[in-house]
Amino acid sequence: MTHDQTSNTWQGRYRHSLLGVFGSPQMCLEHGHGCVVVDSDGKEYLDLLGGIAVNALGYAHPAWVEAVSRQAATLAHVSNFFTTGPQLDLAEKLLSLANAPQGSAVFLSNSGTEANEAAVKICLARTPGGRIIALEHAFHGRTLGALSLTHKIAYRQPFGPSAVDVTFVSPEDSDALAVELDRGNVAGVFVEPIQGEAGVVPLSVEYLQQVRKLTASHNVLMAVDEVQCGMGRTGQWFAHREAHITPDIMTLAKALGGGFPIGATMTFGPDVSGILTAGQHGTTFGGNPLACAAALSVISTIESEDLLSHVRQIGAFLTTALRHCHPRVTEVRGRGALIGVQLDSAIATDLVVAAREAGFIVNAANPSTLRLAPPYILTKEEAQTFVAALPSLIDSVTA
Ligand SMILES: *Cc1c(COP(=O)(O)O)cnc(C)c1O
Repeated sequence: MTHDQTSNTWQGRYRHSLLGVFGSPQMCLEHGHGCVVVDSDGKEYLDLLGGIAVNALGYAHPAWVEAVSRQAATLAHVSNFFTTGPQLDLAEKLLSLANAPQGSAVFLSNSGTEANEAAVKICLARTPGGRIIALEHAFHGRTLGALSLTHKIAYRQPFGPSAVDVTFVSPEDSDALAVELDRGNVAGVFVEPIQGEAGVVPLSVEYLQQVRKLTASHNVLMAVDEVQCGMGRTGQWFAHREAHITPDIMTLAKALGGGFPIGATMTFGPDVSGILTAGQHGTTFGGNPLACAAALSVISTIESEDLLSHVRQIGAFLTTALRHCHPRVTEVRGRGALIGVQLDSAIATDLVVAAREAGFIVNAANPSTLRLAPPYILTKEEAQTFVAALPSLIDSVTA
Protein backbone atom coordinates (compact mmCIF):
# COMPACT_ATOMS: atom_id res chain seq x y z
CA MET A 1 0.00 0.00 0.00
CA THR A 2 1.69 3.25 -1.06
CA HIS A 3 -0.45 6.33 -1.64
CA ASP A 4 -4.11 5.60 -0.93
CA GLN A 5 -6.55 8.31 0.15
CA THR A 6 -5.73 7.65 3.78
CA SER A 7 -2.05 8.48 3.40
CA ASN A 8 -2.60 11.99 4.75
CA THR A 9 -4.49 10.81 7.83
CA TRP A 10 -2.53 9.91 10.94
CA GLN A 11 -3.49 6.27 10.35
CA GLY A 12 -2.00 6.36 6.86
CA ARG A 13 1.09 8.25 7.92
CA TYR A 14 1.65 5.75 10.74
CA ARG A 15 1.24 2.77 8.43
CA HIS A 16 3.74 4.23 5.99
CA SER A 17 6.38 5.22 8.51
CA LEU A 18 6.33 3.18 11.75
CA LEU A 19 7.35 -0.45 12.19
CA GLY A 20 4.23 -2.54 12.62
CA VAL A 21 5.09 -4.17 15.95
CA PHE A 22 2.32 -2.37 17.84
CA GLY A 23 -0.42 -3.03 15.29
CA SER A 24 -2.63 -0.04 14.49
CA PRO A 25 -2.71 2.66 17.16
CA GLN A 26 -6.15 3.31 18.62
CA MET A 27 -5.90 7.07 18.31
CA CYS A 28 -3.53 9.97 17.90
CA LEU A 29 -3.24 11.83 21.20
CA GLU A 30 -2.50 15.54 21.35
CA HIS A 31 -2.42 16.81 24.91
CA GLY A 32 -3.40 15.92 28.41
CA HIS A 33 -3.98 17.37 31.84
CA GLY A 34 -4.50 15.52 35.09
CA CYS A 35 -6.10 12.16 34.27
CA VAL A 36 -7.67 13.42 31.04
CA VAL A 37 -6.08 13.10 27.61
CA VAL A 38 -7.40 14.57 24.35
CA ASP A 39 -7.13 13.04 20.87
CA SER A 40 -6.65 14.71 17.48
CA ASP A 41 -10.44 14.98 17.02
CA GLY A 42 -10.72 16.90 20.28
CA LYS A 43 -12.36 13.97 22.07
CA GLU A 44 -11.53 13.68 25.78
CA TYR A 45 -10.75 10.45 27.61
CA LEU A 46 -10.42 9.63 31.27
CA ASP A 47 -7.16 7.68 31.25
CA LEU A 48 -7.40 4.70 33.59
CA LEU A 49 -4.30 3.08 32.09
CA GLY A 50 -1.86 5.98 32.52
CA GLY A 51 0.46 5.09 29.64
CA ILE A 52 0.58 1.50 30.99
CA ALA A 53 1.31 2.24 34.64
CA VAL A 54 3.74 5.05 33.80
CA ASN A 55 1.98 8.40 34.29
CA ALA A 56 1.83 8.29 38.08
CA LEU A 57 1.17 12.03 38.26
CA GLY A 58 -1.12 12.05 35.22
CA TYR A 59 -0.43 14.43 32.36
CA ALA A 60 1.45 17.73 32.64
CA HIS A 61 1.61 17.75 36.42
CA PRO A 62 2.99 21.22 37.32
CA ALA A 63 5.70 19.86 39.66
CA TRP A 64 6.94 17.41 37.02
CA VAL A 65 6.81 19.99 34.21
CA GLU A 66 8.70 22.48 36.36
CA ALA A 67 11.38 19.97 37.38
CA VAL A 68 11.94 18.64 33.85
CA SER A 69 11.94 22.13 32.29
CA ARG A 70 14.35 23.51 34.85
CA GLN A 71 16.73 20.55 34.53
CA ALA A 72 16.55 20.65 30.70
CA ALA A 73 17.62 24.28 30.84
CA THR A 74 20.44 23.44 33.28
CA LEU A 75 22.05 20.12 32.34
CA ALA A 76 20.33 17.29 30.46
CA HIS A 77 23.04 14.74 29.70
CA VAL A 78 26.69 14.36 30.67
CA SER A 79 27.73 10.66 30.12
CA ASN A 80 28.71 8.30 32.90
CA PHE A 81 32.28 9.58 32.97
CA PHE A 82 30.69 12.11 35.31
CA THR A 83 28.04 12.21 37.99
CA THR A 84 25.53 14.95 38.80
CA GLY A 85 23.53 16.19 41.76
CA PRO A 86 20.21 14.76 40.52
CA GLN A 87 21.82 11.34 39.97
CA LEU A 88 23.27 11.26 43.50
CA ASP A 89 20.01 12.54 44.99
CA LEU A 90 17.92 9.93 43.18
CA ALA A 91 20.17 6.99 44.10
CA GLU A 92 20.19 8.03 47.77
CA LYS A 93 16.42 8.60 47.73
CA LEU A 94 15.69 5.18 46.22
CA LEU A 95 17.94 3.47 48.75
CA SER A 96 16.18 5.22 51.59
CA LEU A 97 12.66 4.48 50.23
CA ALA A 98 13.64 0.81 49.96
CA ASN A 99 15.10 0.74 53.50
CA ALA A 100 18.18 -0.70 51.83
CA PRO A 101 20.91 -1.92 54.19
CA GLN A 102 24.41 -0.40 54.21
CA GLY A 103 26.36 -1.30 51.11
CA SER A 104 23.33 -1.35 48.80
CA ALA A 105 23.53 0.36 45.40
CA VAL A 106 21.58 1.56 42.36
CA PHE A 107 22.26 1.15 38.63
CA LEU A 108 20.26 3.58 36.50
CA SER A 109 19.11 2.78 32.96
CA ASN A 110 16.29 3.79 30.63
CA SER A 111 13.60 1.12 30.76
CA GLY A 112 12.22 -1.91 32.51
CA THR A 113 13.79 -4.41 30.21
CA GLU A 114 17.21 -2.80 30.71
CA ALA A 115 16.73 -2.86 34.48
CA ASN A 116 16.06 -6.60 34.25
CA GLU A 117 18.91 -7.12 31.81
CA ALA A 118 21.31 -5.71 34.43
CA ALA A 119 19.72 -7.93 37.10
CA VAL A 120 20.24 -11.02 34.94
CA LYS A 121 23.87 -10.07 34.30
CA ILE A 122 24.46 -9.69 38.05
CA CYS A 123 23.08 -13.20 38.64
CA LEU A 124 25.14 -14.70 35.80
CA ALA A 125 28.33 -12.91 36.83
CA ARG A 126 27.96 -14.50 40.27
CA THR A 127 27.09 -17.94 38.89
CA PRO A 128 28.56 -18.18 35.37
CA GLY A 129 26.63 -20.61 33.18
CA GLY A 130 23.82 -20.77 35.74
CA ARG A 131 20.10 -21.07 35.08
CA ILE A 132 17.50 -18.46 35.93
CA ILE A 133 14.20 -19.59 37.40
CA ALA A 134 11.20 -17.47 36.39
CA LEU A 135 7.48 -17.95 36.83
CA GLU A 136 4.90 -19.11 34.35
CA HIS A 137 3.00 -16.09 32.93
CA ALA A 138 5.91 -13.80 33.85
CA PHE A 139 6.67 -10.70 31.82
CA HIS A 140 10.14 -9.20 32.22
CA GLY A 141 10.72 -7.35 28.94
CA ARG A 142 11.63 -7.63 25.28
CA THR A 143 15.43 -7.46 24.97
CA LEU A 144 17.00 -10.87 24.53
CA GLY A 145 18.00 -11.48 28.16
CA ALA A 146 14.77 -10.22 29.72
CA LEU A 147 12.82 -11.88 26.91
CA SER A 148 14.27 -15.25 27.90
CA LEU A 149 12.54 -14.81 31.28
CA THR A 150 9.24 -13.79 29.68
CA HIS A 151 6.93 -16.78 29.66
CA LYS A 152 4.68 -16.16 26.64
CA ILE A 153 5.91 -18.42 23.87
CA ALA A 154 4.69 -16.10 21.08
CA TYR A 155 7.03 -13.38 22.30
CA ARG A 156 10.09 -15.68 22.41
CA GLN A 157 9.64 -18.27 19.70
CA PRO A 158 10.40 -16.16 16.57
CA PHE A 159 13.87 -15.45 17.91
CA GLY A 160 15.21 -18.96 18.32
CA PRO A 161 16.91 -20.41 21.38
CA SER A 162 16.83 -18.26 24.50
CA ALA A 163 19.89 -16.15 25.26
CA VAL A 164 19.62 -17.20 28.91
CA ASP A 165 18.97 -20.70 30.24
CA VAL A 166 15.60 -20.29 31.96
CA THR A 167 13.42 -22.76 33.81
CA PHE A 168 9.81 -21.73 34.37
CA VAL A 169 7.95 -22.90 37.45
CA SER A 170 4.34 -22.51 38.43
CA PRO A 171 3.60 -19.53 40.71
CA GLU A 172 2.48 -20.35 44.26
CA ASP A 173 4.07 -23.82 44.08
CA SER A 174 7.02 -23.61 46.45
CA ASP A 175 7.61 -27.37 46.22
CA ALA A 176 8.26 -27.03 42.48
CA LEU A 177 10.67 -24.17 43.20
CA ALA A 178 12.45 -26.26 45.85
CA VAL A 179 12.85 -29.15 43.39
CA GLU A 180 14.44 -26.85 40.79
CA LEU A 181 16.74 -25.27 43.36
CA ASP A 182 17.79 -28.73 44.55
CA ARG A 183 18.68 -29.69 40.96
CA GLY A 184 21.33 -26.98 41.24
CA ASN A 185 23.19 -24.55 38.98
CA VAL A 186 20.64 -21.77 39.58
CA ALA A 187 21.94 -18.20 39.32
CA GLY A 188 18.75 -16.38 40.30
CA VAL A 189 15.00 -16.52 40.84
CA PHE A 190 12.90 -13.71 39.35
CA VAL A 191 9.37 -12.88 40.49
CA GLU A 192 6.90 -10.05 39.93
CA PRO A 193 5.16 -9.50 43.29
CA ILE A 194 2.09 -8.71 41.17
CA GLN A 195 2.15 -10.33 37.74
CA GLY A 196 0.91 -7.40 35.68
CA GLU A 197 0.83 -8.60 32.09
CA ALA A 198 -0.57 -11.94 33.28
CA GLY A 199 -3.77 -10.10 34.25
CA VAL A 200 -2.84 -8.45 37.55
CA VAL A 201 -2.22 -11.58 39.62
CA PRO A 202 -0.67 -10.85 43.03
CA LEU A 203 1.66 -13.47 44.47
CA SER A 204 0.66 -14.41 48.00
CA VAL A 205 2.68 -13.12 50.94
CA GLU A 206 3.35 -16.75 51.92
CA TYR A 207 4.76 -17.59 48.50
CA LEU A 208 7.02 -14.51 48.41
CA GLN A 209 8.30 -15.48 51.85
CA GLN A 210 8.91 -19.05 50.67
CA VAL A 211 10.85 -17.79 47.63
CA ARG A 212 12.98 -15.66 49.96
CA LYS A 213 13.59 -18.56 52.33
CA LEU A 214 14.40 -21.11 49.63
CA THR A 215 16.70 -18.82 47.62
CA ALA A 216 18.57 -17.87 50.80
CA SER A 217 19.01 -21.48 51.92
CA HIS A 218 20.28 -22.42 48.43
CA ASN A 219 22.56 -19.38 48.23
CA VAL A 220 20.71 -18.15 45.11
CA LEU A 221 19.84 -14.52 44.36
CA MET A 222 16.21 -13.42 44.53
CA ALA A 223 15.21 -10.62 42.15
CA VAL A 224 11.85 -8.85 42.41
CA ASP A 225 10.67 -7.18 39.22
CA GLU A 226 8.72 -4.15 40.45
CA VAL A 227 8.78 -2.41 37.09
CA GLN A 228 4.96 -2.31 37.05
CA CYS A 229 3.96 -2.74 40.69
CA GLY A 230 6.64 -0.58 42.33
CA MET A 231 7.06 3.15 43.00
CA GLY A 232 3.87 3.56 44.99
CA ARG A 233 1.54 1.84 42.53
CA THR A 234 0.11 -0.46 45.22
CA GLY A 235 -0.13 2.24 47.87
CA GLN A 236 3.22 1.15 49.29
CA TRP A 237 6.50 2.23 47.77
CA PHE A 238 7.25 -1.36 46.77
CA ALA A 239 4.80 -4.26 46.48
CA HIS A 240 7.12 -6.85 48.05
CA ARG A 241 6.94 -4.85 51.32
CA GLU A 242 3.68 -6.58 52.09
CA ALA A 243 5.68 -9.80 52.58
CA HIS A 244 8.27 -8.10 54.83
CA ILE A 245 11.15 -9.55 52.87
CA THR A 246 14.38 -8.04 51.56
CA PRO A 247 15.23 -9.30 48.08
CA ASP A 248 18.77 -9.31 46.70
CA ILE A 249 17.82 -7.30 43.63
CA MET A 250 14.85 -5.08 42.73
CA THR A 251 14.10 -3.60 39.33
CA LEU A 252 12.05 -0.45 38.69
CA ALA A 253 10.91 1.60 35.69
CA LYS A 254 7.42 2.60 34.44
CA ALA A 255 6.10 5.01 37.13
CA LEU A 256 9.62 5.92 38.29
CA GLY A 257 10.00 8.74 35.77
CA GLY A 258 6.31 9.66 35.54
CA GLY A 259 6.61 9.63 31.72
CA PHE A 260 10.31 10.26 31.34
CA PRO A 261 12.16 7.05 30.36
CA ILE A 262 14.18 5.68 33.28
CA GLY A 263 14.87 2.28 34.83
CA ALA A 264 16.69 1.26 37.99
CA THR A 265 18.31 -1.92 39.27
CA MET A 266 18.85 -1.96 43.02
CA THR A 267 21.27 -4.36 44.71
CA PHE A 268 20.76 -5.01 48.41
CA GLY A 269 23.82 -5.34 50.64
CA PRO A 270 27.55 -5.20 49.86
CA ASP A 271 27.90 -8.75 48.50
CA VAL A 272 25.33 -8.34 45.71
CA SER A 273 26.43 -4.75 45.08
CA GLY A 274 30.02 -5.90 44.59
CA ILE A 275 29.36 -8.53 41.92
CA LEU A 276 29.66 -6.32 38.83
CA THR A 277 32.93 -4.43 38.72
CA ALA A 278 34.07 -1.46 36.66
CA GLY A 279 33.61 -2.10 32.95
CA GLN A 280 31.31 -5.12 33.27
CA HIS A 281 28.12 -3.22 32.46
CA GLY A 282 27.19 0.23 31.25
CA THR A 283 24.85 2.58 29.42
CA THR A 284 25.21 5.89 27.59
CA PHE A 285 21.93 7.54 28.58
CA GLY A 286 21.23 5.80 31.90
CA GLY A 287 21.18 8.02 34.97
CA ASN A 288 21.31 11.30 33.07
CA PRO A 289 20.32 14.33 35.18
CA LEU A 290 17.16 15.03 33.16
CA ALA A 291 15.71 11.57 33.82
CA CYS A 292 16.81 11.73 37.45
CA ALA A 293 15.19 15.13 37.95
CA ALA A 294 11.94 13.74 36.52
CA ALA A 295 12.06 10.77 38.91
CA LEU A 296 12.89 12.98 41.90
CA SER A 297 9.86 15.15 41.14
CA VAL A 298 7.62 12.07 40.96
CA ILE A 299 8.89 10.87 44.34
CA SER A 300 8.66 14.26 46.05
CA THR A 301 5.13 14.83 44.70
CA ILE A 302 3.99 11.40 45.92
CA GLU A 303 5.36 12.41 49.32
CA SER A 304 4.10 15.99 49.46
CA GLU A 305 0.59 15.14 48.18
CA ASP A 306 0.39 12.01 50.37
CA LEU A 307 -0.43 9.98 47.27
CA LEU A 308 0.38 6.59 48.83
CA SER A 309 -2.59 6.82 51.16
CA HIS A 310 -4.72 8.27 48.35
CA VAL A 311 -3.78 5.31 46.14
CA ARG A 312 -4.80 2.89 48.90
CA GLN A 313 -8.16 4.66 49.28
CA ILE A 314 -8.94 4.90 45.58
CA GLY A 315 -7.87 1.27 45.13
CA ALA A 316 -10.14 0.09 47.91
CA PHE A 317 -13.03 2.10 46.49
CA LEU A 318 -12.54 0.80 42.93
CA THR A 319 -12.01 -2.80 44.02
CA THR A 320 -15.22 -2.91 46.05
CA ALA A 321 -17.32 -0.93 43.59
CA LEU A 322 -16.17 -2.88 40.51
CA ARG A 323 -16.59 -6.25 42.24
CA HIS A 324 -20.30 -5.67 42.62
CA CYS A 325 -21.05 -3.62 39.52
CA HIS A 326 -22.16 -6.44 37.20
CA PRO A 327 -22.75 -10.22 37.42
CA ARG A 328 -20.26 -10.82 34.61
CA VAL A 329 -17.46 -9.43 36.79
CA THR A 330 -16.29 -12.54 38.64
CA GLU A 331 -13.25 -11.23 40.52
CA VAL A 332 -11.32 -8.01 41.06
CA ARG A 333 -7.59 -8.48 41.77
CA GLY A 334 -4.69 -6.22 42.61
CA ARG A 335 -3.71 -3.50 45.04
CA GLY A 336 -4.04 0.27 44.98
CA ALA A 337 -3.80 1.66 41.47
CA LEU A 338 -3.15 -1.70 39.79
CA ILE A 339 -6.40 -3.55 39.27
CA GLY A 340 -7.46 -6.52 37.18
CA VAL A 341 -11.18 -6.91 36.52
CA GLN A 342 -11.86 -10.57 35.75
CA LEU A 343 -14.78 -11.14 33.39
CA ASP A 344 -16.70 -14.36 32.92
CA SER A 345 -15.67 -14.71 29.26
CA ALA A 346 -13.40 -13.32 26.54
CA ILE A 347 -15.05 -9.91 26.22
CA ALA A 348 -12.18 -7.74 27.42
CA THR A 349 -11.00 -6.67 23.95
CA ASP A 350 -14.52 -5.60 22.90
CA LEU A 351 -14.95 -3.90 26.24
CA VAL A 352 -11.81 -1.83 25.68
CA VAL A 353 -13.29 -0.56 22.40
CA ALA A 354 -16.68 0.17 23.99
CA ALA A 355 -14.98 1.97 26.88
CA ARG A 356 -12.94 4.06 24.47
CA GLU A 357 -16.05 5.12 22.59
CA ALA A 358 -17.55 6.11 25.94
CA GLY A 359 -14.44 8.15 26.78
CA PHE A 360 -12.40 5.79 29.00
CA ILE A 361 -8.94 4.36 28.35
CA VAL A 362 -8.45 0.88 29.82
CA ASN A 363 -6.66 -2.19 28.51
CA ALA A 364 -7.18 -5.94 28.13
CA ALA A 365 -4.31 -7.67 29.97
CA ASN A 366 -5.70 -10.88 28.47
CA PRO A 367 -8.94 -11.73 26.62
CA SER A 368 -10.97 -11.93 29.84
CA THR A 369 -9.22 -9.41 32.09
CA LEU A 370 -9.51 -5.64 32.03
CA ARG A 371 -6.51 -3.84 33.51
CA LEU A 372 -6.61 -0.46 35.23
CA ALA A 373 -3.35 1.31 36.13
CA PRO A 374 -4.54 4.90 36.56
CA PRO A 375 -2.51 7.92 37.64
CA TYR A 376 -2.15 8.12 41.43
CA ILE A 377 -3.98 11.46 41.36
CA LEU A 378 -7.24 9.90 40.09
CA THR A 379 -10.07 11.39 42.14
CA LYS A 380 -12.92 9.38 43.61
CA GLU A 381 -15.32 11.35 41.41
CA GLU A 382 -13.37 10.36 38.29
CA ALA A 383 -13.22 6.73 39.43
CA GLN A 384 -16.96 6.85 40.09
CA THR A 385 -17.73 7.86 36.48
CA PHE A 386 -16.11 4.63 35.27
CA VAL A 387 -17.83 2.52 37.92
CA ALA A 388 -21.14 4.03 36.80
CA ALA A 389 -20.44 3.45 33.10
CA LEU A 390 -19.05 -0.11 33.25
CA PRO A 391 -22.31 -2.09 33.68
CA SER A 392 -23.87 -0.73 30.49
CA LEU A 393 -20.54 -1.12 28.66
CA ILE A 394 -20.52 -4.80 29.66
CA ASP A 395 -24.13 -5.13 28.53
CA SER A 396 -23.20 -3.60 25.16
CA VAL A 397 -20.67 -6.32 24.31
CA THR A 398 -21.67 -9.91 23.71
CA ALA A 399 -19.78 -13.19 23.88
C1 LIG B 1 6.63 -3.26 31.42
C2 LIG B 1 7.39 -4.29 32.16
C3 LIG B 1 8.71 -4.61 31.83
C4 LIG B 1 9.40 -4.02 30.63
O1 LIG B 1 9.57 -2.64 30.74
P1 LIG B 1 9.93 -1.79 29.43
O2 LIG B 1 10.15 -0.40 29.97
O3 LIG B 1 8.77 -1.91 28.51
O4 LIG B 1 11.17 -2.37 28.85
C5 LIG B 1 9.39 -5.51 32.63
N1 LIG B 1 8.79 -6.08 33.69
C6 LIG B 1 7.52 -5.82 34.03
C7 LIG B 1 6.93 -6.47 35.23
C8 LIG B 1 6.77 -4.92 33.27
O5 LIG B 1 5.49 -4.68 33.58
